[in-house]
Amino acid sequence: MTELYGLTPGQLSELSTSLGWPKFTGAQLTQWLYRPPFAEIEDMNNISKARRELLASSFTVGRLAPKECRTSRDGTKKYLFESPQDGAVFEAVSIPDQQRHTLCVSSQSGCKRGCAFCMTARLGAGRNLSVGEILSQYQSIPEYEQISNIVFMGMGEPLDNLDNTLAALDILTKVCGLSTRRITVSTIGILAKLEEFLEASPVRLALSLHSPFAQERESFLPAEKLNPAREIVSMLRNRREDKRRRITIEYIPFAGLNDSPRHALELTRILKGLMIRVNLIPWNTIPGTSLQSSDPRRVEAFRAELERGGVPTTIRVSRGQDIEAACGMLAGETNPA
Ligand code: SF4
Repeated sequence: MTELYGLTPGQLSELSTSLGWPKFTGAQLTQWLYRPPFAEIEDMNNISKARRELLASSFTVGRLAPKECRTSRDGTKKYLFESPQDGAVFEAVSIPDQQRHTLCVSSQSGCKRGCAFCMTARLGAGRNLSVGEILSQYQSIPEYEQISNIVFMGMGEPLDNLDNTLAALDILTKVCGLSTRRITVSTIGILAKLEEFLEASPVRLALSLHSPFAQERESFLPAEKLNPAREIVSMLRNRREDKRRRITIEYIPFAGLNDSPRHALELTRILKGLMIRVNLIPWNTIPGTSLQSSDPRRVEAFRAELERGGVPTTIRVSRGQDIEAACGMLAGETNPA
């Protein structure tokens, strides 16, 4: 059985014509798959019974439901998904707030990039999520209609799964009706793919920087070796067409490592003139690393130093720590309870 959920409107239209039906049937399928009320094939009542029967003989909808949900004291929910085909696991985190309701989605099950501060890295390379698996994290959760913002900051590096990430973004913005200003893709910056991503999608970008010094950045973010932050920043600076795109620099201050005034000064220097803001992310200690989170007073001093240098800087409020749903903690583990 082939799954329909995850096919793009173009692919659904091709499927329709390949079966000898008008393109319009492809558009009807698109609506039933991605707009409420979602329907199983037999319930798509504006498609003829004969066509529905033919479809159901070879296709299923295939939207994946979460296997498990854990709720934090602060209202954050972590959903675990598991592929029935190969058992691959991945997570989405739903974060309600006063003004917005953000959903953090995964693009891969596991990740090959080996960042020292990240639990997903411990799973190793894993595999890319399909378009349907990415979209299921949004449309299969009970509070899906409340979601106002989506961030690709869960498990995996979205640019390592660029084709499926772009197809999912296209469906989210062009079919589901989410604004491009309400979606952010977070990346450690894979140079060979970043430009292609920026050309193809107008959504917001978040770049994980974590140190302005190459050697130091490489020590906790190995991808720096082939993807130097300075080259990425310079590429962003030279892209005139991106002047209106909102770019965030993500920076985890680690105690005694990258949280000094010297770091703040150098960061200010390399970011000068860019339309960006820095988001300082309090880190949640994970086992098996000597990294320690910076003291909140030090983080505040770092923020003030950047602001003095003219770099708008915020400190992210950490959510869902008690259910391992906060930054760097996603590892696809089932509930021990
Ligand atoms: S931080 Fe992102 S890129 Fe680095 S290992 Fe974790 S998931 Fe992969």
